[in-house]
Amino acid sequence: MTEPRLCELSVPGRVGFRFPAVDVPSEALPENLLRQDLPIPELSEMDVIRRYTHLSQLNYAIDIGFYPLGSCTMKYNPKINEETSRYTGFNAVHPLQPIETVQGALAMMYELQEWLKEIGGFAGVSLQPAAGAHGELTGVLIIRAYHKDRGDLKRTKILIPDSAHGTNPASSAMSGMNVVEIKSDARGNVDLASLKAECDDTLAGLMLTNPNTLGLFDEHLEEVIEIVHKAGGLVYGDGANMNALLGIIKPGEVGIDVLHYNLHKTFSTPHGGGGPGSGPVGVRKHLVDFLPTPIVGVLEEATDEVPPLYGFTTPAKTIGRVKAFHGHFGIMVRAYTYMLMHGADGLRKVAEHAVLNANYLLARLRHAYHVPYDRICMHEFVAEGFWDDAPEIHALDIAKRLMDYHFHPPTNYFPLIVHEALMIEPTETESKQTLDAFVEAMLKIAEEAHQEPELLKTAPHITPVGRVDEVRAAKDLILTCNARPE
Ligand SMILES: *Cc1c(COP(=O)(O)O)cnc(C)c1O
Repeated sequence: MTEPRLCELSVPGRVGFRFPAVDVPSEALPENLLRQDLPIPELSEMDVIRRYTHLSQLNYAIDIGFYPLGSCTMKYNPKINEETSRYTGFNAVHPLQPIETVQGALAMMYELQEWLKEIGGFAGVSLQPAAGAHGELTGVLIIRAYHKDRGDLKRTKILIPDSAHGTNPASSAMSGMNVVEIKSDARGNVDLASLKAECDDTLAGLMLTNPNTLGLFDEHLEEVIEIVHKAGGLVYGDGANMNALLGIIKPGEVGIDVLHYNLHKTFSTPHGGGGPGSGPVGVRKHLVDFLPTPIVGVLEEATDEVPPLYGFTTPAKTIGRVKAFHGHFGIMVRAYTYMLMHGADGLRKVAEHAVLNANYLLARLRHAYHVPYDRICMHEFVAEGFWDDAPEIHALDIAKRLMDYHFHPPTNYFPLIVHEALMIEPTETESKQTLDAFVEAMLKIAEEAHQEPELLKTAPHITPVGRVDEVRAAKDLILTCNARPE
């Protein structure tokens, strides 16, 4: 890339910021912290603004175009969420303020907990976890505490279907559980025989991503839950895919004992590139006492004259804190705004349209791309990025070529149970025109793969950087711009 680095633009003596006068005597400062020479580029404000504005223009975002990154629910994030999260009463409060001074913020958190309880069919919710994977860790710790509390110490085994999200085995292992994988059957459901074979008195629970990473609703959901419960285990639901279920089924009502939500996915807060997220956990009645502390509660009921007093409560057998303070508050405000703007009927429509859009794409693409588990999908589906008669083409080449058509690639090589997977999640916010344009690009690429494979192998052609070494880019970060290398 020809882009100059900030340190290359540095001119000695150029400044973009003036510090206020020092208001402590310099003798009072520790000598070893005083440096005359700092390796910081010297630039004007305009140099810096132009540089970062230009970099931002090289980026891709949901505000620029279609982003069908499966499992990530890259829906459009309404700008009103940003407006409300910037209200002074929300963004200028401190978590250690006396509760009397932050009643509005606490009321919002309380109501969000209540809505999440209602949406999921749960008796209690904690807003603390920082993201989906963190919600999983919290949920598994709750399951562990539940068995321990009953003196059932043998129960250390967590079953995870091979169609689960990759964070499921990771968070279970981090909770000190033994992870055992179970197979999917030919229709992409949990294989009941494999499940039964693992249900013994060491079973702590099953962690179920439903809809799973194939975008499929388990056709034996109730039976699966019953088998696990009969064996004395609990069922963890990975609720990151709630976008398919909102207002249609309540996981708690079908017997899922604990579930995390991904506010940043389902309830439209900006994500990707590392956060912040929010992964609240909902539980059924028998697990309420184990939730992380603190939970926002009503300390004094409302009377005719005064509104209720909100504050913090501690569940009787809490697993403790899982996050500093109260979780990612700004994300809660955004999700709350989104729910308020949609209302209950609107949220149900979100799920209906998310499922409809995915099935529309599936119907239009299944003739050109092989779909190994080909049945009505939920909010996403998985196709193969591979043809027997174009053997040199891989999912990666299709993903890269899509960028030339100005689309963000789908998730690829995940889930692992599909060869050369392309996982496509359009979300409900896209119009038919956008979906049609994407279909046209996908069909064109399938044609190119057979007729001009080189076009795919060398893609992308229109981006400032071509194919990068993605492993090295992630593992070998260059985070500083050293203006004066030694
Ligand atoms: C995104 C996702 C997760 C993890 O959520 P994070 O917020 O990224 O930690 C877990 N399960 C599923 C099914 C997901 O799609």
